[in-house]
Amino acid sequence: MTKITILGCGATYGVPVAGGAWGLCDPSNPKNARMRPSVLVTQDDRSLLIDIGPDFRLQTSRANAVPDTIFITHGHWDHIAGIGELPYYLEEVLRRDLNIYADEKCMSFIRGMFPYLFFGEQTQGYTSVVGFGESNQYRIFWHRIRAYEAFEANGIGIMPFAQHHGGSDSLGVRIGDFVYSSDAKSFPAQSRPCLTNIDTWILDCDYWERSESHGDPETVLEHVDQFKPKRVLLTHMDEKIDYSVLTSWFADRGYAHVTPAYDGLEFDLTGTS
Ligand SMILES: [Zn+2]
Ligand SMILES: [Zn+2]
Repeated sequence: MTKITILGCGATYGVPVAGGAWGLCDPSNPKNARMRPSVLVTQDDRSLLIDIGPDFRLQTSRANAVPDTIFITHGHWDHIAGIGELPYYLEEVLRRDLNIYADEKCMSFIRGMFPYLFFGEQTQGYTSVVGFGESNQYRIFWHRIRAYEAFEANGIGIMPFAQHHGGSDSLGVRIGDFVYSSDAKSFPAQSRPCLTNIDTWILDCDYWERSESHGDPETVLEHVDQFKPKRVLLTHMDEKIDYSVLTSWFADRGYAHVTPAYDGLEFDLTGTS
């Protein structure tokens, strides 16, 4: 059985944003408190974290999760800032090797943001290895991946696919009939086979207004009409998107199977082993 836990479904600056501003969100509804986008995939005794943003410390603490495998969708700050926590996390908590999967472009963003983490780096084929602790006994294995090349991470089968995200692309994730599409405005034709027969689709709905780089309610409806997923949970929502208002917006149009996600939401996947 595979379980998904939503650790965060907020936009780049979370809800409330720094300084405690809730925007148009009702602060009395706990479902409006959103950390940066991340989900935990748990399969038997194995786990996979998708994205490691600035709320990594709080998210893993609340979920009681000690992941040893991380998939990163792209190199924007809200998806990689938690990498700064890793040296101490490896040495004091995880106490074993960590595997991270990211594409070439994301890796170069990470090196630019955390150059000090790559001192003493070794390369093994497509994988970079960086050690921490006394005599480097705990290592990060950085695996370079590419869209449309399926792989297994911690025994969990993953198909990464490209998503258009403004001026750059991000990676979507397909695991069985589950799809994760944060930071996605639209999808190249090559990704369409990854978007058919979806059971649950976690999909970007950052703003009310249309934008170049993120989803919005009207764009979500277009994707839902095209790909016909059984259920959609919306993510990467900013402080102008109130949980109840967005829920009604879709229900009023006959799309009750499209609802906002909320931090802490858990569900089991069907169609995966
Ligand atoms: Zn983002
Ligand atoms: Zn992004």
